[in-house]
Amino acid sequence: MTVDAMLKPAPAELPPPHRAPSALIRKAAVLGAGTMGSRIAAHLANAGLAVVLLDIAAETGARSGFAMQALEALKKAKPAAFFDPSLASRIVTGNFDDDLALLAGCDWVIEAVTENLGIKQALLAKIVPHLKPDVILTTNTSGLPVASIAANMPEALRRRWFGTHFFNPPRYMRLVEIIATPEADPEAVEAISQFADLRLGKEVVFARDTPNFIANRIGVFTMLEAVRLMQEEDLTVEEVDALTGTPIGWPRTGTFRLADLVGLDVLAHVVANFPRSHSRQDGQELAIPPFIQTMLERRWLGDKTGQGFYRKEKDSEGKDIRFALDWKTLEYRPASRPNLPLLEMAKNAERLPERLRQLLEGDVRKDKAARFHWRLLTALWNYAADCLPEIAGDVSSVDRAMRAGFNWEMGPFQLWDAAGVRATVERMRAAGEVVSPVAERLLAAGGDAWYRSQGRECFDPAAGAYREIPRPDGVARVASFRASNGVIRQNAGASLVDLGDAVACLELHSKKDAIGEDIVRLVNDVLRPDGDAVRNFAAFVISGDADNFSVGANLMQLLLSAQEGEWDEIDRAIREFQRMTSAIKFCPRPVVAAPFGFCFGGGAEMAIHGVRRQVHAELYMGLVEAGVGLLPAGGGCKEMTLRALEAAAAVREGLRSESVQEFEALRRSFETVAMAKVSTSAFEARRLGFVSAGDRITMNRERLLHDAKELALSIADAGYAPPPPRADIPAPGENILATFRLGVRMMREGEYISDHDVKIANWVAFVLCGGKITPGTLVSEQYLLDLERQAFLSLCGEKKTQERIAYTLKMGKPLRN
Ligand code: NAD
Repeated sequence: MTVDAMLKPAPAELPPPHRAPSALIRKAAVLGAGTMGSRIAAHLANAGLAVVLLDIAAETGARSGFAMQALEALKKAKPAAFFDPSLASRIVTGNFDDDLALLAGCDWVIEAVTENLGIKQALLAKIVPHLKPDVILTTNTSGLPVASIAANMPEALRRRWFGTHFFNPPRYMRLVEIIATPEADPEAVEAISQFADLRLGKEVVFARDTPNFIANRIGVFTMLEAVRLMQEEDLTVEEVDALTGTPIGWPRTGTFRLADLVGLDVLAHVVANFPRSHSRQDGQELAIPPFIQTMLERRWLGDKTGQGFYRKEKDSEGKDIRFALDWKTLEYRPASRPNLPLLEMAKNAERLPERLRQLLEGDVRKDKAARFHWRLLTALWNYAADCLPEIAGDVSSVDRAMRAGFNWEMGPFQLWDAAGVRATVERMRAAGEVVSPVAERLLAAGGDAWYRSQGRECFDPAAGAYREIPRPDGVARVASFRASNGVIRQNAGASLVDLGDAVACLELHSKKDAIGEDIVRLVNDVLRPDGDAVRNFAAFVISGDADNFSVGANLMQLLLSAQEGEWDEIDRAIREFQRMTSAIKFCPRPVVAAPFGFCFGGGAEMAIHGVRRQVHAELYMGLVEAGVGLLPAGGGCKEMTLRALEAAAAVREGLRSESVQEFEALRRSFETVAMAKVSTSAFEARRLGFVSAGDRITMNRERLLHDAKELALSIADAGYAPPPPRADIPAPGENILATFRLGVRMMREGEYISDHDVKIANWVAFVLCGGKITPGTLVSEQYLLDLERQAFLSLCGEKKTQERIAYTLKMGKPLRN
């Protein structure tokens, strides 16, 4: 193909930015209840839709057949497919022979049966008479030409037909590629892209109707290259995994652990889709190497068949040992830790661009790791540039697809920018290596990078110029406001960033997402009622850009103080922490918390003190202090008591059965704290009492900040006054405390918990009940905070608590002692 042919302007242009209102999709159907179909159905149920799930009738003749079996399996899927198992009730199952009438009410029908053109076409022909006229019909094919699947369908339906390519597992993988055919009605495409974005929480990338679309095309090419270079550079499977993991911003699984997870058969399917024309630059065909062909024949497909590039075995003590495949002999040997000095050195560089530059500075004549990286990355860059005009509207679509579909920290063009396009191209030329003509065009046009203007514009090779990257409204991270508005105040753990419209973000960005003194200091300072920030901003949002909101208070600082017996220091630190959560709750301006990912311990306490929460659907929230031998002492216990009393009061108004409601609500709070329960979704966080009725859930992580800002503004605009600190809390008191303690004793007698668990649980009960006092005694919030502090200090002095903390710091998981 000539350069000009490659650079011909693309037929499908970039999508317009999202418009309100979102499409009305209330009921959907998924055809095919296999790996993908069933999980897509679960995620549609997560999004609140009524779902029909159909598959072939089982041989036994059971009416629902496979779909019913699939639904049962879905409830137990790992990782969980549903936000909550109860959502399974939104799915109705059926089979393709008896139940096609169920399709009549569906607004969106997704085809997800076996990857076979004939099967897909035959099924579509069968369902057409049952569809409503304005249905939107899409396919989840990963490689068949989307237009050809629909070739025999009526024209009106072909206009409402296109590709929606989900990634496995669909609840967690953020990418959906939308593949519009030339016939597809742009309104239908827009309706589904909006739905996928807003309601399914997906990163929508528009791909062209070419085999393997964008992410699989680039991702699987990269995997094949890694295999080829492993053989040419004589590296081991473990070495390649180390080289293609975190050092270059790719998932820790590297190449081969990922292949084992995905399944070699699935990957082989993608490779088979690569047409002959999709060769590497040297004209060599992209194909599965013979040793992997043998693995496929032996069904060494990875985790699903128990062995692939790795295999787990038990040693004589029953411990797992990992074996790795020797690709030369096809024998397994104990996996070894790669010894690659270049990687060790690069570990010191915290940020990817810096690490990448260090890795590429390695001496390719002496170091095979350096040679591997240079050859892999240049092959990737050239291939991505060569493919670009064919597969995507712009470089940012390719980068977004790789970030959301393969969990890369940076896509190929971002990586190339980070390494320096001009410098690397000159190095390629000097070494006599082929450079993609698309990249040559960038340099010829005077560009040095694929992106400019802080990522707002990217180079369009067809036009030979930069152009703005269209962004849907409401998609924003704190970093973009940092770049445009600057930072008002910051330290190592947190910053105050202006989000515009008189809203500021308290951004948490500490190392390892823990809350240390620096965060406490900054929040206390910013939220001072008489401070500048409170005067200058109408509302605040607490959030961040990291993977997790916060894993909780910095345990290292605490452990050191406890081991040194610095009780006054710990007492002071707790008081400051309590002052911070109170500052959040009583700030004269509304403070909305926007948690996401892990939100543990002190992080959860910060979040529950906000006036409201705008939470990401993937929220793993818990007051987990009991796991490290402690209890929440930043107002967490106090708030759980208040919430229980409020919940009981709300029910009581209708039912008038006082003590039972109060006991039940408090028991839920007690179990949540004493058992350190963690939600597996925002949905569950609501059931655990962390997310309240007035709080809202955002499905798309990229929209969380914007949604939180809107919520904060709406509260401020409605005329906000903070609640007064309460001094009229009717303490649950000694009777409920005695019942809880009895329950704890029985748990111990049944040997469900240890003596130390008993001690912690009794303290939790004590604080939640307001101590051993007459039920109904009026107490203040400060009184409950003082109890928290007393209990926390007491537990800190326990050797077993210190052991738990030390263990968790070292191993990253709780110790039951
Ligand atoms: P699967 O094999 O797990 O499920 C396919 C389903 O199709 C089965 O439930 C089967 O009963 C049904 N089926 C088989 N023959 C049929 C027939 N003649 N008529 C009607 N139904 C029939 O496959 P999957 O992995 O879920 O893939 C489904 C689609 O999604 C394929 O197009 C695939 O390329 C695509 N896809 C798969 C993945 C993945 O990782 N597995 C990822 C993205 C897209």
